[in-house]
Amino acid sequence: MSNIASTLRAAVVGSGPSGFYSAEALFRLTEFPFEVDVFDRLPVPYGLVRYGVAPDHQNIKAVIKTYEKTAANPKFAFFGNVELGRDVTLDDLRARYDLVFLATGCAADRHLGIAGEDLAGNYAATEFVAWYNGHPDYRDRSFPIEHSRAVVVGVGNVAMDVTRILLKNRDELAKSDIDEHALAALRATAVSEVVLLGRRGAAQAAFAPKEIKEIGDLADVDLAVDPADAAASEAELAAADVDAKKNVEYLLARAAAGPGTRPKRARLKMLASPVEVLGNNGRVAGVRIERNRLIEKNGQFAAVGTGVFETIECGAVFRSIGYHGIAIPSVPFDAKLGRIPNHNGRVLAASGGQVLQGVYCAGWIKRGPTGLVGTNKPDAQESVRMAAEDLAAGAVTTGGKPSRDDIRAWLQAKGIRATNFADWKKLDALEQERGRAAGKVRRKLVGTDEMLKALG
Ligand code: NAP
Repeated sequence: MSNIASTLRAAVVGSGPSGFYSAEALFRLTEFPFEVDVFDRLPVPYGLVRYGVAPDHQNIKAVIKTYEKTAANPKFAFFGNVELGRDVTLDDLRARYDLVFLATGCAADRHLGIAGEDLAGNYAATEFVAWYNGHPDYRDRSFPIEHSRAVVVGVGNVAMDVTRILLKNRDELAKSDIDEHALAALRATAVSEVVLLGRRGAAQAAFAPKEIKEIGDLADVDLAVDPADAAASEAELAAADVDAKKNVEYLLARAAAGPGTRPKRARLKMLASPVEVLGNNGRVAGVRIERNRLIEKNGQFAAVGTGVFETIECGAVFRSIGYHGIAIPSVPFDAKLGRIPNHNGRVLAASGGQVLQGVYCAGWIKRGPTGLVGTNKPDAQESVRMAAEDLAAGAVTTGGKPSRDDIRAWLQAKGIRATNFADWKKLDALEQERGRAAGKVRRKLVGTDEMLKALG
């Protein structure tokens, strides 16, 4: 049945940046008026902005103001505490909505695939990040480090966040919205040196110039770089973009300044790959690394081992080599890529397979874990454009869908205590109030049960 003159109903699954940008783009489709119901498996919205962006990067979290504007649209509704694959299936949503948008992000991490990764003290940066940000799934985790040195593998912006949180002055961190149990645990660690391992050279480092500089600017912390690790050849510089050139320039200046004498240190070691995590009594005791050299192919630089090995003694290893999508029951998934198979946001039944009519995806689960928060806006807009094209072409069957009240009743009948946006505003106010009392930006409620209890 085609009924596109009246209001259409869209479900967006995931309330992180790409979920909100999808909702916003749907509201902008003047030719197709939409009501948008945004679902999240947690009782609270904002996904990666709440649980991924570092607590001392409140300026990045300010993007929430834009999402609040989207949420203020009377045609918007939030259904928190509803998990796709557990509480509802994709087919349930397809039967009840004209369009379904999947913006579920990439919550898992990638493994190095080397010996020793099962040792205690070998941590996923993604989990450490979720833990210090107070994610309910990680509330019972701990990240003990019984050594003055930790190693971070990978030199992307997540590695920068992890290094900063490990080394930053604890009283400074206390003012942020860092989870208080995490902060107490960090206060108890003895880490005074973090060694960052980049498998390629300075000109290929994935961190943003601003992020490495922030490490260099930390009080009481020296950023130590060996001159050989800051160097880049003519060919590398010719292939480098503006940010990569800035990184090389900055690292050369840091290398020239010497290692410094401050009490804490971030030591950047480039052209080095871990080949084994070493243990002692089941706990991490060090990392064996191989020094690399670069080979060039079509302007791209790859690392190859030189057969020269070194050992770094340490008490913890944080692998920070990228996120990976998680398969959701009832949703197509390409396990190799860690993404939902799609073509420009149109979801496919399988990689290279048929388009699933009326189902789209956006964000990291669509394109992989790359880019900044804002990168998700054009990405979501592209997916919504595909949906608009499909609607205009009559390629999506629309109309006759249940109302929002029907959806509420359906969830209630399933015994689900779905939260709404007013519930979130209540929790938001409570967290900020608790924060004010503790002299910090906000004091998060950490457990789902704690959040639901606070709502009464
Ligand atoms: P990323 O930017 O993709 O960096 C991953 C790092 O891991 C790279 O240095 C990569 O080296 C390395 N790596 C990958 N596989 C490896 C292996 N097998 N052995 C050794 N090293 C390996 O990923 P991310 O840091 O997780 O960040 C994800 C996205 O979020 C990025 O787009 C990032 O910019 C963004 N983000 C932004 C901020 C911010 O703006 N403040 C904060 C956090 C995250 P190669 O380059 O050699 O592959």
